[in-house]
Amino acid sequence: MTGERTFQCRCGAMRWQIAPEARGTHLECYCADCQTFARHLGVADDWLDAAGGTEIFQTLPRHLTFTAGREKLAVLQLSPKGLMRWHAACCGAPIGNTLTGSGFSFVGAILRPGQTGFGPVTVRCNTASAHVPIRATGLPRAVAGALARAAAARLTGRHRQTPFFGADDAPVAQPRILTLQERNAARPPKPG
Ligand SMILES: [Zn+2]
Ligand SMILES: [Zn+2]
Repeated sequence: MTGERTFQCRCGAMRWQIAPEARGTHLECYCADCQTFARHLGVADDWLDAAGGTEIFQTLPRHLTFTAGREKLAVLQLSPKGLMRWHAACCGAPIGNTLTGSGFSFVGAILRPGQTGFGPVTVRCNTASAHVPIRATGLPRAVAGALARAAAARLTGRHRQTPFFGADDAPVAQPRILTLQERNAARPPKPG
């Protein structure tokens, strides 16, 4: 069992949490890339909802702390410049998405569908790739929130506080870029 704002991977080797005071945006993303990520990891049944959505809490990386198994962090990219998609090397549980460095302080922490502790979903985006018709809502607010949080972190130097990048700004795990074949194999079926 995971409590409010605490997470564990499927096999239990990794545990992490998001600070109770961490502010952010609870959104649901239906994009094909998020679906591809879950499908490639083999966890789509557990981490995507029936419409193909991924629930995400966008916040600052410094609010995310690993309490066990951080050495099992793995990261992949769907393409060379794509988001860094962090996950558990042990069992494939998705953890979160970041940019390719710590300069823009951002993590989209991945929630299990229906996970509590983050308030209601206020943003639904990339709904064209949802499996059922869903109305997009709130994306400008999410973007504004992420920009404001990242700018504040940058001003105070706290963007360097992140579990995903070292002091040299290199990712703490070697990113693996999916081959075109791997990516295509994990693509969701076209909606409609
Ligand atoms: Zn695991
Ligand atoms: Zn997405």
